[in-house]
Amino acid sequence: MVNYKDLGLVNTVEMFKKAVAGGYAIPAFNFNNMEQMQAIIQACAETKSPVILQVSSGARKYANQTILRYMAEGAVQYAKELGWEHPQICLHLDHGDTFELCKSCVDMGFSSVMIDASSLPFEENIKLTKQVVEYAHKYDVTVEAELGVLAGVEDEVSAEESHYTKPEEVIEFATRSGCDSLAISIGTSHGAYKFKPEQCKVDPATGRLVPPPLAFDVLHEIEKKLPGFPIVLHGSSSVPQEEVDTINKYGGALKAAVGIPEEQLREAAKSAVCKINIDSDSRLAMTAAIRKVFAEKPAEFDPRKYLGPARDSMKKLYMHKIINVLGSAGKAE
Ligand SMILES: [Zn+2]
Repeated sequence: MVNYKDLGLVNTVEMFKKAVAGGYAIPAFNFNNMEQMQAIIQACAETKSPVILQVSSGARKYANQTILRYMAEGAVQYAKELGWEHPQICLHLDHGDTFELCKSCVDMGFSSVMIDASSLPFEENIKLTKQVVEYAHKYDVTVEAELGVLAGVEDEVSAEESHYTKPEEVIEFATRSGCDSLAISIGTSHGAYKFKPEQCKVDPATGRLVPPPLAFDVLHEIEKKLPGFPIVLHGSSSVPQEEVDTINKYGGALKAAVGIPEEQLREAAKSAVCKINIDSDSRLAMTAAIRKVFAEKPAEFDPRKYLGPARDSMKKLYMHKIINVLGSAGKAE
């Protein structure tokens, strides 16, 4: 049993309180490997942004849960080495689906866990969430729950159709489950193909696909029901067109990938939305940078020569999100 506090990590309580009051959102970036972790920490140390490092079930399978936990511990020391005196780094389990998994993360030093029982009926969702909350809170670990269903596929979380969160259910859910934050469904979704082309309009100026807007009316209803309660948005990559173009230019085949426009995320960050999950965008940035090196320098075979540029490109993306979209720069001096 390791407590996250001994690793220099923090839970989400203070982060979220400040973010809701300050009208900004904390970045929740998924990580699977060293380069991604370094890019996240470099970006956050440089901008002094609090951050949530997320571990998905795909990441646990790919990199191993224990290694990722030690990497997060290393991330705290790395942040200090970069001159960030009081790093605010949370290590969070993304989409935990069983009590046992959440418990194992609490026991090995995670400071926050998500129990996603959103595919279960309402009562069962409350029951499982409550079970996780009761265990996690003994160790000061915060718990994110989910109500409503997001469409899309990401690391083995998949759903055919999305169902917006019902505002009339949120008070009962939050009160009875005791969760610390709530992921809701208002039109975001997982992956780089968030919308079918037929759901989008075409921007006549650029010829690009414009997705339907997020359901801000649902968000505002939820905010009215639970004033000041931390709300989370999953699946909030924007799928930058220039990254898609670079990938396709150098031999990729990404067709009609569409994300959430950044203006809408900026607007959401000003509300009770205080955690915004971004994963696909860093995958795109990494892939674009690697493809470019492979195309331009076909004789290169030192992984550092393509993973290095990929890391730089991800860092640039993370800094852009922190400064221009989430507004979290300077919030963890
Ligand atoms: Zn998610």
